[in-house]
Amino acid sequence: MTTTLLFPAKEPVLAKIADSETLFPVNRIFCVGRNYHAHAAEMGVSVDKTTEEPFYFIKDSSAYVPSGSSIDYPPQTTNYHYEMEFVIAIGEEGFNVSEDQAESIIFGYACGLDMTRRDLQLKARETRRPWDLGKDFEQSAILSPIVPFEKTGAITKGKIELAVNGETKQSSDMGLLIWNVREIIAHLSKFYHLQPGDLIYTGTPDGVGSVVQGDKINGAIEGLGSIQLSIK
Ligand code: MN
Repeated sequence: MTTTLLFPAKEPVLAKIADSETLFPVNRIFCVGRNYHAHAAEMGVSVDKTTEEPFYFIKDSSAYVPSGSSIDYPPQTTNYHYEMEFVIAIGEEGFNVSEDQAESIIFGYACGLDMTRRDLQLKARETRRPWDLGKDFEQSAILSPIVPFEKTGAITKGKIELAVNGETKQSSDMGLLIWNVREIIAHLSKFYHLQPGDLIYTGTPDGVGSVVQGDKINGAIEGLGSIQLSIK
């Protein structure tokens, strides 16, 4: 018996690679929570690296939106926030990867926006429920073209900034990450077999805030590139 599909299978999600015709098929989108002390503080919490481990949430790959897009204000929120983030694009399989080996599975880096329905996230937090409605929603994972590792080398510090309508809102340095890139890959790969196509949003610095219809977001990471998003 010949089998058929009841409806068309999901199309692959394909991210851009800077200055290349080759596309990067997106697998999973991991996001690190609370990875800058100043952002944790503005969210009313503190992080003690000596006693705590990093934590994560996941967005469906269909949440991917390329930089430069204009997207609709999302439903069911009145407090829609930007979070500017440094993103790792995984290019090789990795499980129980050591910190020393972590960079060997990186394909490249990108600028990302972890768009958030903050009111729903905080409500979930207060009621000890999962964050999905606040974090994993349509068009919530914005990504710039990925820059291959061989063009940048390891990025461990440098400015990470975001402006709304030309006004600077976030300005920090990736050297302030609580868990750095090597530590995140080593830790996350204890729990998951990392795969080519996985993206890791490494967390946002302080200065998060809301956007409304008509706003234009511009983010930049030193030594890497920039990201743009319009809300319509
Ligand atoms: Mn985030």
